[in-house]
Amino acid sequence: MIQPIDVAGVLSRLGLAEVNSGAWVSGPLPVSGPVVASNNPGTGAPLASVQLAGLAEYEQVVAAAQAAFLRWRVLPAPKRGEIIRELGDALREHKADLGALVSLEVGKILSEGLGEVQESIDMADLAVGFSRQLYGLSMHSERAQHRMFEQWHPLGLVGVITAFNFPNAVWAWNALVALACGDAVIWKPSIKAPLTAIATHQICAAVLDRHGFGGVLGLIIGADAEVGEALIHDKRVPLISATGSTRMGRHVGQVVAGRLGRSLLELGGNNAIIVDNTADLDLALRGILFGAVGTAGQRCTTTRRLFLHADIADGFTQRLVHAYRHVRIGDPLDSSTLMGPLIDEGAVQDYERAVSAAVAQGGTLLVGGKRLDRAGHYVEPTIIAAPHDLPICQHETFAPILYVSTYTELTEAIAWQNDVPQGLSSSIFTDSFRKVERFLGPEGSDCGIANVNIGTSGAEIGGAFGGEKETGGGREAGSDSWKAYMRRQTCTLNGSSALPLAQGVRFDL
Ligand code: NAD
Repeated sequence: MIQPIDVAGVLSRLGLAEVNSGAWVSGPLPVSGPVVASNNPGTGAPLASVQLAGLAEYEQVVAAAQAAFLRWRVLPAPKRGEIIRELGDALREHKADLGALVSLEVGKILSEGLGEVQESIDMADLAVGFSRQLYGLSMHSERAQHRMFEQWHPLGLVGVITAFNFPNAVWAWNALVALACGDAVIWKPSIKAPLTAIATHQICAAVLDRHGFGGVLGLIIGADAEVGEALIHDKRVPLISATGSTRMGRHVGQVVAGRLGRSLLELGGNNAIIVDNTADLDLALRGILFGAVGTAGQRCTTTRRLFLHADIADGFTQRLVHAYRHVRIGDPLDSSTLMGPLIDEGAVQDYERAVSAAVAQGGTLLVGGKRLDRAGHYVEPTIIAAPHDLPICQHETFAPILYVSTYTELTEAIAWQNDVPQGLSSSIFTDSFRKVERFLGPEGSDCGIANVNIGTSGAEIGGAFGGEKETGGGREAGSDSWKAYMRRQTCTLNGSSALPLAQGVRFDL
């Protein structure tokens, strides 16, 4: 059933105009760049436009953030947490509209659009908690009547570069924790999802403004070659947290390292599920379907490779192919839809190229493989039987393509799973405790996320999220990820009347 969504109402309740500024502090800044439309990928029709910002506006956003940081960093962290609590409430208040906008702008089904905003709300709650738990350790000094401890201070300005596919939550993973840590945040979202960024910024900046902290959040939307490059080269921004493709992250990481800045990289994945012959196959089927088809294969944690034990491979593949044929593809706002469109025509072409390459390299198309002949950017969810070492299986194609291989020994399946450049998410379905131990042990999965009897996607915010190898090594959200947004200071205090040196060094006149 199509949800009765009043698109104009959603846009206007979220403060979006026909043409919106690409530079924001407390409110919009005047801009003079080209006007770019943001299109609904489900129809191809424009939703609204953004006038791009340039270097002059970038300077204004940075100046405002620098000034605001000086006041924000001295506000006690629990008091910052109180303001973040209100920010979470503001997101709650706008959840329905913001979730609908995520669906309209990037084509996720509505329940995922709403789920994404819920993730941001959850991040606000987590950040409120962090604001009272920015703990440092204390150590025993080797010198008598000396005391040692470490403390964590706000870092400064944090540049947050976000991918199109989580246009709201990726910002929240970073910004809400950075705010709790006492930092100011400059957000450079994807040009493919600027409206969600503007709406989110307005909701959250209004809360900070109300408390006299306008400028702590800034937003800049412009060309990568101009404002993107300015941000990553900017020595006034000690941390760049960048989420997106490995190609982008390799460049950003090198530029930031070149100025000895800090980068937190959340890049591409190439995630696999192993289905053992002891697995609950009904569970595995559902986990794989959501992992491989959900979000039209446009999650960093999407299941892209499947390793089936030879005992169950044939029957299970048939069940999977049958299920794929029944995936309802269409308008993401229709509550019966399971798979919406890809983000744009370029993504459809990437999908088509990957399917052709897989077949040319020796894969066998089992289901799907074609674009749909209708308005918008729709494709069929696709399964390709492929030897594990097909060259195409080394790459992340941001589309619903699943490569399936058969194995006989778990050791072999784990080796295949790890034999790709990326290292984000991984899963095993098995009822064997011993196999779980092997998968989770030091010889097991080499990914940042390793799951048992759930799929590769849909992480909870309480854990540290991120991956190894070409996924970039960054960790965001829960656990102790907050440490990336602060600077650590080790303090040694001498309460004695002597001045002993460490390691017994003597230096007496
Ligand atoms: P992308 O790399 O094309 O763009 C990501 C962001 O980088 C955009 O905001 C873009 O404008 C910016 N960017 C590009 N060049 C830049 C430059 N020179 N300077 C500054 N900024 C620059 O990625 P995308 O297509 O938006 O997103 C899909 C990719 O993101 C996939 O590879 C996916 O796996 C990855 N992703 C990873 C995670 C994670 O947490 N690991 C989460 C979401 C998405």
